[in-house]
Amino acid sequence: MRRKIVAGNWKMNYDLSETESFLSSFKEQVRPEDVEVMIAPAFTNLNHAFKSLRDHDVKVVAQNMHQCESGAYTGEISAKMLLSVGVKSVILGHSERREYFNETNKTLAEKVETALKHEMAIIFCVGEEEDKRDNGTYFDFVKKQLSEGLFHISKEDWKSVIVAYEPIWAIGTGKTASPEQVQEMHEFIRNTIQNDFSEGVAEGVPILYGGSVKPDNAKEIFSKEDVDGGLIGGASLEVESFMKIINAFK
Ligand code: PGA
Repeated sequence: MRRKIVAGNWKMNYDLSETESFLSSFKEQVRPEDVEVMIAPAFTNLNHAFKSLRDHDVKVVAQNMHQCESGAYTGEISAKMLLSVGVKSVILGHSERREYFNETNKTLAEKVETALKHEMAIIFCVGEEEDKRDNGTYFDFVKKQLSEGLFHISKEDWKSVIVAYEPIWAIGTGKTASPEQVQEMHEFIRNTIQNDFSEGVAEGVPILYGGSVKPDNAKEIFSKEDVDGGLIGGASLEVESFMKIINAFK
């Protein structure tokens, strides 16, 4: 049995008071015990979120971090800074980081290295643009993202890695990949990991789907064999819809 995971990626939403009010209501909710819940607020709210959630079995995750240990990188945040406020997990390679902040597979490989060095858990995102879906090159594209950004790690390191498949054309667009399209890509990702590492590694890696997951489509997506949960953007910003998605695993 693989882990079941629902992670909320808040992106650049919610200031401190909005974060406080979400979390105070969220903490009161009764959640299924077998679903791991993670929330990724903005950097400025990580410490508050960590303190608020530490007794509630919810992991607080950063949305990004820099690959260097420290230095002249104005505006950036290091692994050590995250660890110092209680954050031990980080999302790397989100398509918005790749697109708007020029993160390449090479930069991501370095970020992965730094995170692992600091024993941080990683949610590593991959996913194709619409034209690659249309011209049929989406498997090759995702395989390249994995092999150049992530596959330099050791077999042992996989215990710290979660993969998130997020087709860019489905993020924030209301267009969800069909459950069949999701399963097909998740299976492909698992097979690719198996080929490069081992069956044992591939079987254990949680693979999350992200891209317009909502309360009304979560159940069907989560029911697919190779889908181990979701990385949720918009619908993670309201307690009610986030809870419905978490409960979709029941
Ligand atoms: P969305 O975002 O759920 O709003 O489509 C998902 C993501 O970008 O992680």
